[in-house]
Amino acid sequence: MSKYVHTEVDGIKLKLSNLDKVLYPDVGISKAEVIQYYMKIAPYLIKYIGNRPLTLIRYPDGIDKTKFYSKSCPDWAPAWIKRENIQHSEESIPYAVVNNTPGIVWLANLAALEIHPMQMVTSSMEFPDHFIFDIDPPEGADFEGVKHIAFKLKQFLESYHYTPFIKTSGSKGVHIIVPIIAQHSHEEMVDCVKGLAKLFVQQNKDTSTLNLHKGSRGGRTLIDIYRNHMAQTTVSAYSLRAKPNASISCPISWEQLDELNSSGDIDIRNIDEHLEKYGDVWANMDKKAVALHTKRGQGEEANEEVQKKLDSYLKKRDFDKTPEPHPVMKMTSQNRFSVQLHDASNLHYDLRLEDKGVLLSWAIPKGLPTGLGVKRLAIRTEDHPMEYLDFEGTIPKGEYGAGEMWVFALGETKWIKKTDKSYEFELDSKQLKGHFKLYKTKGDQWLIEKKDEAQSKMLKEFVKPQLADVIKKVPTSYNYSFEIKWDGIRTLIYVKNDKVQIFSRSGRDITSQFPELQIAPDAFEIESGIFDGEIISMDEQGRPIFSDVISRLHTGGERSIQAAVSKNPVYCYLFDCLYLDGRNICSEPLKKRQAWLRVSLKKNNQYRLSEGMSDGQALFDAAKKMNLEGIMAKDLTKPYEIGVRNRNWLKIKFRETISVQILGYTEGKGDRSNLFGALHIATKEDDSWKYLGKVGTGFDEAKMIEVLAILKQQGESKKLIEENIEEPQRTVWINPKLWCEVQYASLTNKGTLREPVFLGLRPDLES
Ligand code: MN
Repeated sequence: MSKYVHTEVDGIKLKLSNLDKVLYPDVGISKAEVIQYYMKIAPYLIKYIGNRPLTLIRYPDGIDKTKFYSKSCPDWAPAWIKRENIQHSEESIPYAVVNNTPGIVWLANLAALEIHPMQMVTSSMEFPDHFIFDIDPPEGADFEGVKHIAFKLKQFLESYHYTPFIKTSGSKGVHIIVPIIAQHSHEEMVDCVKGLAKLFVQQNKDTSTLNLHKGSRGGRTLIDIYRNHMAQTTVSAYSLRAKPNASISCPISWEQLDELNSSGDIDIRNIDEHLEKYGDVWANMDKKAVALHTKRGQGEEANEEVQKKLDSYLKKRDFDKTPEPHPVMKMTSQNRFSVQLHDASNLHYDLRLEDKGVLLSWAIPKGLPTGLGVKRLAIRTEDHPMEYLDFEGTIPKGEYGAGEMWVFALGETKWIKKTDKSYEFELDSKQLKGHFKLYKTKGDQWLIEKKDEAQSKMLKEFVKPQLADVIKKVPTSYNYSFEIKWDGIRTLIYVKNDKVQIFSRSGRDITSQFPELQIAPDAFEIESGIFDGEIISMDEQGRPIFSDVISRLHTGGERSIQAAVSKNPVYCYLFDCLYLDGRNICSEPLKKRQAWLRVSLKKNNQYRLSEGMSDGQALFDAAKKMNLEGIMAKDLTKPYEIGVRNRNWLKIKFRETISVQILGYTEGKGDRSNLFGALHIATKEDDSWKYLGKVGTGFDEAKMIEVLAILKQQGESKKLIEENIEEPQRTVWINPKLWCEVQYASLTNKGTLREPVFLGLRPDLES
């Protein structure tokens, strides 16, 4: 067998070697499994090592054999691996910088089990963006002591208004990471950290020490701050460790720290479970960056006026239970605003306007008005602290305002007029713009009025849906969400003013065919939106029946349509959202669009949520058993690209189908003498026809009668293809306007379809 395997990751060719070699003998983990782990974790890992110079620790023959520290990126590394030169006292070292999945796989193939990034990114080498405390317990100490010191240090750092994050080391201790704004030199940061550490150790001198010398620690835990110097490194979040159980240095929440028995608990075998349960708990780390406390401006003391305004905010919340921010009270003088989408007992939007150190706040049940002169109710709520501006998170059940909160728009306010009872202003942000006036009517009830024309034209025009690429195997990566591939009519659903408008994929208005979907107030929580989905008919087992839904498309006349509604009602499975209450949301990642789609939909009606699942293989197996068409894999991090076919969405099918055009048919014989024999089908490529052969199965008699009637309406034509065909004398050529869907096994070497089966006409594709 060859020692090498050639593969391709995201379009980059890689040569992998010695895949069978066991790198972790105690648990029997081979290099292949290490590579697999790094490939799956890449979307997470990249956030913590991307754009950072790396030091690698390689174990080419396993963790119990010789290891190699490598700082210098090897000469033979592929050209697409970036290098960053750092001048050390003696020499300049080209460090490797890895920014993509192929790069991570390349590292794994080097058996670089441990990946150690620096504390700054290459675009701003002078300014670190975090500092680290490595809590290193003495030999034989129990983990409870580590937890105790970690929680103490957390509290200590929070008193300086830092937000500490924690990860397991994969060994005995834990690492505490504190994000800072990248604007202080390495020396300034080190001085500040030294000051903090000295004070902390002074306050906890029985249990902690700064002394590196093992003999002098006297059973105390080392607070190791010495990794914070320029060009020092610490093992990355999600890196493997060279420990017998293949442990991982894994980000955890402070709550989870309580549950762990050891810092080596999370390893290559149970990381899936951890991520499924908690996700990336460091996801919002960069939002928590603050200036070093030693460098923050003067007059830092809580401003009395701000404090008074936030009294009600503080009283309503229990900060041990809610993740909402505890304020640093100080006067500010900017004019920022945010709109948050809040899925509390009633879905609503919160408008927050910065004013003298606080956020003036209103809850707007129906969202900001989008048309000139439109007024909406706005309920004044307590002033919120500035830290709330970009807050996202889940307020737990039982707490004030319980439910999910997202940032919907974030930008600047231009004030036009401020009085006690009215505010007039312009909002300017990427997401929302407009001129508004808020005025008090009674008590906490206000009205918000739009004072200019609507900005977003999106609701007024048809946009084309995003299309999926095809892939043979279920992809494995934590980035994907998997869904059933619904076999029906792809549609875009426009909701506005309590009305629904339905478009086919090509932009044809097919609203009148589906009166049972005219239920906007019963189906949607939101006022306006554009949704992407599939209209389907189902049999008793809940399987989509393609030909039934297609027949609904060419049912004519109000009476027949009504009869079809009661006999064969359709459902609309929605899987994406492009526009919501005044905002184009295509640029948001799928994960967020899915969350917003979920809260936009009411339950128990003809509109349903196409649920995303994380276990692709299980869904694939279940869908195959149910004889469905296939499944979809969608990258949760990607935006929605209108009218584009791309690899953000992938379809994995059990069998092939194709949409083709009908060029003609053969006259029937024998028991089909009153019907037809088969359809000649083709696709148009550029300006010429590509003949795909004949399809003669997949029809029952009723279907053939129906199809023949439609064929006869098309008008005869000349032969449009050059190929010789079977039964030329019996063929009737027609105008090539009709589309149909055909399933097939594979292509013949002539390029025609093998074992084609007719699935149904596709009037939705006719232009
Ligand atoms: Mn709210």
